Amino acid sequence: MATNLHTIAVIGSGTMGAGIAEVAASHGHPVLVYDIDAAAISRAVDGIRQRLTSRVSRGKLSADAAEQILSRLTPVTTINALAKADLVIEAASERLEVKKALFSQLAEVCPPQTLLASNTSSISVTAIAAEISHPERVAGLHFFNPAPVMKLVEVVSGLATSSEVADALCELALSWGKQPVRCQSTPGFIVNRVARPFYSEAWRALEEQVATPEAIDAALRDGGGFPMGPLELTDLIGQDVNFAVTCSVFNAFWQERRFLPSLMQQELVLAGRLGKKSGQGVYRWQEEKPAVSWLDPVSDSFSPMRVQRRSDGVTEIDELLLIETQGETAQALALRHGCPVVVVDRIERDVAVIAAAPGNPRSATQKAIYWLQHQEKRVLQIADYPGLLVWRTVAMIANEALDALQKGVASEQDIDTAMRLGVNYPCGPIAWGERLGWQRLLTLLENLQRHYGEERYRPCSLLRQRALLESSYES
Ligand code: NAD
Repeated sequence: MATNLHTIAVIGSGTMGAGIAEVAASHGHPVLVYDIDAAAISRAVDGIRQRLTSRVSRGKLSADAAEQILSRLTPVTTINALAKADLVIEAASERLEVKKALFSQLAEVCPPQTLLASNTSSISVTAIAAEISHPERVAGLHFFNPAPVMKLVEVVSGLATSSEVADALCELALSWGKQPVRCQSTPGFIVNRVARPFYSEAWRALEEQVATPEAIDAALRDGGGFPMGPLELTDLIGQDVNFAVTCSVFNAFWQERRFLPSLMQQELVLAGRLGKKSGQGVYRWQEEKPAVSWLDPVSDSFSPMRVQRRSDGVTEIDELLLIETQGETAQALALRHGCPVVVVDRIERDVAVIAAAPGNPRSATQKAIYWLQHQEKRVLQIADYPGLLVWRTVAMIANEALDALQKGVASEQDIDTAMRLGVNYPCGPIAWGERLGWQRLLTLLENLQRHYGEERYRPCSLLRQRALLESSYES
């Protein structure tokens, strides 16, 4: 079917519509560009021309090819003019009534074989298609911003969407050099759902005052391998936009507690501190970011120390236990073991995020820092926080990914691909969980749930099943 998708129409020529029109025209399609605001169409075409000119000047595209791409764009001023499209991609405002009105007009204007897709990031595809004739031809085609650059496209099926239509859209996305993933129409689809804990765990750490914003960002970026820290990312996305997505997912899941929005983020939005675009958000963007307080090298020499690394993630250093976190505070562990304890985040890079039990003698904590620094680790010390920063965030993301998998939102492979390509995670969350160990993840979440007494950290049932399978293979 995709080979028959020749003429493409794009409705809405804002940020996303312009990008999608550029992608389609760059792959040889005639593109009809429509917007209720004629000025928006001119701005979109001008923007595409500027981007193509810049690629020509960088030697990435010939002037001839750029002209051909531009010649494929046809601005149109009525919906009726879209009748000759084989596929219409709607990228108008994110409001259900706007989309429903557009799709019912399209259903009247276009023949039944025309495919109708929406670039919605949060609205139910089922709802958009509900009242029109031939709802089987309606699907979500969710591009990521900027559409010409980002490889991922979520192909979203509503209840009525036919599998042939989803297949055709996947095939088309592939022919445009994109990586399609299939998912069901559920709140947040894959990426906007599975990514929620990345932000919410950072807000919680900030709210509980366990570390500065720059330390939280450094832990996730330099320690977790994420391309950017969660807080700096919300500043770039825009606090208003990121908060709105969180609220939308929270409400769509009947106010499920694990998606609870942050009051601190709401305060930023109410203050107009929207991030980079307003000059201030979590950070002040006109000023240099505060430096991360990596610990200075410990000057005392503690050598020789008696060090024994055990297989259970515990390192004995003289009288001290250095324990890889399993979701308990250093204080709780120190009381249980009757000795000084430092907990360390489970990080596979040259970064160590640690917390010391408040009752530790200073020299004992210093020994742990000294030893970690001699393992070539940069050390960040935060308040005594269960699960620390990286391991707890990764556990929550993997748990959400498994929940989506269990509920049939998408396949395991597509969930991992979506998170790698849609938000550039260093590893798909399910592959990540597999590598770190499901039983360890389960223990961490159970400990967090016990610590907080909150539903938020409840392990999903598939995580319990995977942990059981893992232990039965080991035994
Ligand atoms: P935008 O505000 O930049 O552009 C929307 C355009 O739609 C405007 O030019 C507006 O004039 C036009 N429009 C509004 N109502 C219309 C109608 N009835 N008929 C024709 N045109 C109409 O918005 P955007 O950021 O490009 O987002 C568009 C869609 O893409 C939304 O559904 C959004 O959720 C989704 N989306 C956005 C992003 C993003 O990062 N911006 C990413 C993925 C998906």
